[in-house]
Amino acid sequence: MEWMENEIQGYHVETCFGHSGCPNRVATSDDLSQKIEKRLSGRKLKEFLRDKVKGTLKMHHEFRVSISDCPNACSRPQIVDLGLIGAMRPKISDEACTQCGACAEVCREGAISFQNGTPVLDYTKCFSCGQCLAFCLTGTLQEDIKGYRILLGGKLGRHPQLGRELPGIYGLEDTLELFERCLDNYKENCLEGERFGEVLNRTGLDRLMVRKRTGKKNEKNFLFDLCQRQK
Ligand code: SF4
Ligand code: SF4
Ligand code: SF4
Repeated sequence: MEWMENEIQGYHVETCFGHSGCPNRVATSDDLSQKIEKRLSGRKLKEFLRDKVKGTLKMHHEFRVSISDCPNACSRPQIVDLGLIGAMRPKISDEACTQCGACAEVCREGAISFQNGTPVLDYTKCFSCGQCLAFCLTGTLQEDIKGYRILLGGKLGRHPQLGRELPGIYGLEDTLELFERCLDNYKENCLEGERFGEVLNRTGLDRLMVRKRTGKKNEKNFLFDLCQRQK
């Protein structure tokens, strides 16, 4: 047990193999995991957990982040404290469609149909995998938003739960800002080594609705502001 505690650094960041050349990759940043690790290492999480946890620190106490570069989610971002999924949402442009049907054929979610020869996107089915864009040679389908889907508070253990997904897709800077807010929230509210999911179960997502770091008065809360932009 003592050996295990020495191995613990207070956080763990996992990635999929997207950066090794996976053709499904839609992530926006090659060094997101390094950026996140740098932020985590500055938070002194091991010391924080040492104060909060009764008994020996174990692996499952660590704050865990998992980054998958597409919605196939190979690194299992649904079961960690903060999960990120690379995503690209398409939109229909004004460029003429040849009705080749390639986009509908490649979409595994059945999110593309045709009405009077015009492609229609069903965003309730679309997973933002971006696959259809590569098959549209006319430019009728174009990139709308590229970034990350964000899941909060997933975990395994005695009471497992999947992370709750925030609405929308977030650009790199917003993702990092929200990540910092999650860590603030976790450190401010964690009791006796609770996992982030347990903190959110107890306090609600509203606690993340904090003002941006500029500290200006009457500024909209951060999460609300982000969600409005995603609609
Ligand atoms: S999550 Fe997507 S990009 Fe990453 S390894 Fe799996 S299929 Fe490839
Ligand atoms: S982004 Fe993916 S899920 Fe959405 S319409 Fe295109 S292929 Fe289908
Ligand atoms: S791939 Fe492009 S051109 Fe072909 S049917 Fe789809 S939108 Fe139209």
